[in-house]
Amino acid sequence: MPDIIRLLPDSVANQIAAGEVIQRPASVVKELLENAIDAGGKNISLIVKDAGRTLIQVTDDGSGMSETDARMAFERHATSKIREASDLFSIHTMGFRGEALASIAAVAEVVLRTRTRDSETGTEVRISGSKFLGQEPVACNPGTQFQVKNLFFNTPARRKFLKSDTTEQKYILQEFYRVAIPFHDISFVVMHNNAELYNLPSSGLLQRIVRLMGKQALQNLVEIKSETSLVSISGYIGKPQLAKKTYGDQYFFVNRRFIRHGYLHKAVAQAYEKILPSGAVPSYFIFLTVPPESIDINIHPTKTEVKFEDEQAIWQILHASVREGLGKFNIIPSLDFEANAGIEIPVLQKNTEIRTPEVQIDPEYNPFEKETERGRTAKYASSLHSSELLNWEKVYAGFEKTPEEEGSEADLFQQENRAEQISGKFIQIKGRYIVTAVRSGLMVIDQKRAHERILYERYLEGLKSQQTASQQELFPRQISLTTDEYRFLLPMLQGLQSAGIDLRDFGNGSVVLYGCPPEWKGNDPEEMIRLFLHMLREEEGDPEQIGRERIAENLAKATAIPYGKVLSQEEMNLMTDQLFACSNPSFSFDGRAILTIISLDEIEKKLR
Ligand code: ADP
Ligand code: MG
Repeated sequence: MPDIIRLLPDSVANQIAAGEVIQRPASVVKELLENAIDAGGKNISLIVKDAGRTLIQVTDDGSGMSETDARMAFERHATSKIREASDLFSIHTMGFRGEALASIAAVAEVVLRTRTRDSETGTEVRISGSKFLGQEPVACNPGTQFQVKNLFFNTPARRKFLKSDTTEQKYILQEFYRVAIPFHDISFVVMHNNAELYNLPSSGLLQRIVRLMGKQALQNLVEIKSETSLVSISGYIGKPQLAKKTYGDQYFFVNRRFIRHGYLHKAVAQAYEKILPSGAVPSYFIFLTVPPESIDINIHPTKTEVKFEDEQAIWQILHASVREGLGKFNIIPSLDFEANAGIEIPVLQKNTEIRTPEVQIDPEYNPFEKETERGRTAKYASSLHSSELLNWEKVYAGFEKTPEEEGSEADLFQQENRAEQISGKFIQIKGRYIVTAVRSGLMVIDQKRAHERILYERYLEGLKSQQTASQQELFPRQISLTTDEYRFLLPMLQGLQSAGIDLRDFGNGSVVLYGCPPEWKGNDPEEMIRLFLHMLREEEGDPEQIGRERIAENLAKATAIPYGKVLSQEEMNLMTDQLFACSNPSFSFDGRAILTIISLDEIEKKLR
């Protein structure tokens, strides 16, 4: 029998090994950026063509390499970062396996230009599909530039396996964020097909996050911080407004290195359990610092997974600090809604159609207790935010008497008893706050924010579905505008119509109001429209670019009842009712708390 075992040629072995490290253009970006940072680069640029298929180029102003090192760098297991096996446990740099460059060079054409600070000229190395093509002196700046061209040119199957440019581009930016966030003190420029995507100056962490995520992140981030002997935790967590339906902005950095960690993600997600719609994922940017020897980062070739020595303890600490962060900003009102539970703020009045959600406060709820409450709170989250809640009839079906119950005396008694509990339960303070008793204490609702939230969701719904009812004005009203106002308003007319504001162009700088939403009753619609325009113009540039959310927000702000407006029982009743039908009753769209609960504990303490 002939021998069948053969040694693979190096180039093939390299290609196979490369498959582990280099899966797509984004992997190249990650490795090159990490190397640039390890080399002490302070200004790093990333240039990408065709989502990395044609070119990925990373330039840094770091240490640079000597002539010999420039050649050596492409050898497998060539690394300047580990000298002995024991070094593996005290790694502070990003890469350390000495595999990245060899892997990249196996599946692409690579040009390296590099120069150390104390040498006069640089050196250029060319390699293609692991084949050394040549090295020669070159004029270049101190630092290093890698050009990676025609990725996977020699592995057509892999090249074909790549997704659309948009998708690959998304992966690339994702890798970029994972480096740019923890290394906010480094300045980065990112170009794609000659367009500048990012130009980030060296800055603080918060500024960097806001630069990457957009301005709205600024007011929606909460700082967290905690120091223990096991781990120190810092960073930012997003208020509920920043949560999304899909995963994306979840960042854990361990010793400044991005990692994925399902178990720790749960520690964060569970801290949000009561305040996010089910299925929504909180955004976070969390830095964990641990002694390097207490983690194992070598369990995955791309090193985004980490094993901690004391994972459970870290879970607890992380969970508690997120909880604390949310609590500090009153993001957790510990409100509990449960179908069929006892009614605590029942506000049903015989002559109204409006029914109140069943608000129940759980005095037992302890945010720091993790196991026992889980099942319940999960149920709560989904019941709170299910679209069913928006549908009164269904939710309160149980509250109404069925025909069979009608005759029952006990039931009748209960009903009356409830009715008595219900009436006169709201107090308005200073024309600002609606106060009502709940099981665990006193709930205080900011009336203006509550109304803004209600209107916002309604307008937004209208803008999306284009079918909000408007009440026709008996006499259409002509409103004259300044040229500027007129030009600004025109592109929005259709949107406004679908939000129930029937404004039509009348030419010559004027519009005519044919109808407005029923909520505007009793107010001067012209004044409201002017206020809305004024607010929107304060912050927006191009009227064509204004999103529905901004329109809805500003409409809500312009048309919500002001502070100082005296509210009747019935109005407070209605408002509470509508508030708790909102998808997010706890927060205004700009992240301020709408309500808070003063717990019995607090009251008792004060009266001690
Ligand atoms: P690792 O980063 O795991 O050490 P790499 O294959 O990524 O392995 O890089 C091999 C070596 O090449 C590094 O250890 C470093 O000495 C050198 N090197 C790579 N990129 C740069 C750079 N941008 N500037 C200076 N040296 C670099
Ligand atoms: Mg490396």
